[in-house]
Amino acid sequence: CAKNDGRNNYAFYTESLTQLSLEHLKLQSALYGAIEQNALYLMYQPKLDLVTRKTVGFEALLRWHDPLLGLISPAVFIPIAEKVGLIHDIGLWVLETACRQGMRWLRDGKYFGRIAVNVAGQQLQRSSFVDDVKRVLAETGLPAKHLELEVTESVMMQNPEVAIRDLKRLGDLGIELSVDDFGTGYSSLNYLKKLPIHKLKIDQSFVRDIPFDTNNTAIAKAVIALGHALKLDIVAEGVETQEQADFLLQNHCDQAQGYLFSRPQLPQDLDKFLS
Ligand code: C2E
Ligand code: MG
Ligand code: MG
Ligand code: MG
Repeated sequence: CAKNDGRNNYAFYTESLTQLSLEHLKLQSALYGAIEQNALYLMYQPKLDLVTRKTVGFEALLRWHDPLLGLISPAVFIPIAEKVGLIHDIGLWVLETACRQGMRWLRDGKYFGRIAVNVAGQQLQRSSFVDDVKRVLAETGLPAKHLELEVTESVMMQNPEVAIRDLKRLGDLGIELSVDDFGTGYSSLNYLKKLPIHKLKIDQSFVRDIPFDTNNTAIAKAVIALGHALKLDIVAEGVETQEQADFLLQNHCDQAQGYLFSRPQLPQDLDKFLS
């Protein structure tokens, strides 16, 4: 009977794998039409200064609502978009949409600080990326000082020299540059030292359960100290409790973002964060 069980398990296993790749294929083909079908939109999550509690910016977070498949998480579809090369078109759409939103807030006299746009590693690797960003700024009219780009440590993996050069060109335009999910990637401190960046975002996996989780508490403190030693601002992601916020403030973390302050929301629902 053990044998039988084994076979059943095996059958179940292959079935779920097939199921998984079918699901993947469905998503992949639906994603090709997503931009034209207006199935993409952005939500914005405030970033606050921990000392003043004032809004310093908003992170644009991409949403995909497919009419048949429903709402799909960017954690699921961004990797697919990268795999099939759609990330460039999608990334440009995000940048344009976020910059247009910034212009709308500017015209309405609403202060929003900076809009942060996530940039996938592959986008930065494309040789036209810096020019694409310049063009979007020119076309939308958004001043570069209102834009922030979030990149992950993976930008350093393929061609660090080119990544450093392009990030420097973007920084020279007046765009603020952040390293997202800091501590979860593979970059060495040697690369970090060379990156022309302004901010580190402590990944939410290290913010979870501080100050009660002793390992995360130690890591969060160390990242803050490291970042400050390198003259970088530190942003904590995924702040959900007052205990976390108090601890981060006491330990001189500069900014925070998380459900404690606000979930990502549609622009029309963010008035109380826009001064
Ligand atoms: P990320 O850039 O690190 O974004 C932070 C994620 O944490 C977002 O998930 C946000 O909704 C979520 N979050 C914010 N506050 C809290 C909190 O207090 N608790 C918890 N549990 N979560 C919180 P989301 O929107 O599902 O995005 C997931 C990831 O997808 C992003 O991680 C980013 O890597 C990627 N992504 C989202 N939009 C874009 C985009 O426009 N372009 C690219 N390339 N990637 C994107
Ligand atoms: Mg981000
Ligand atoms: Mg992050
Ligand atoms: Mg993250």
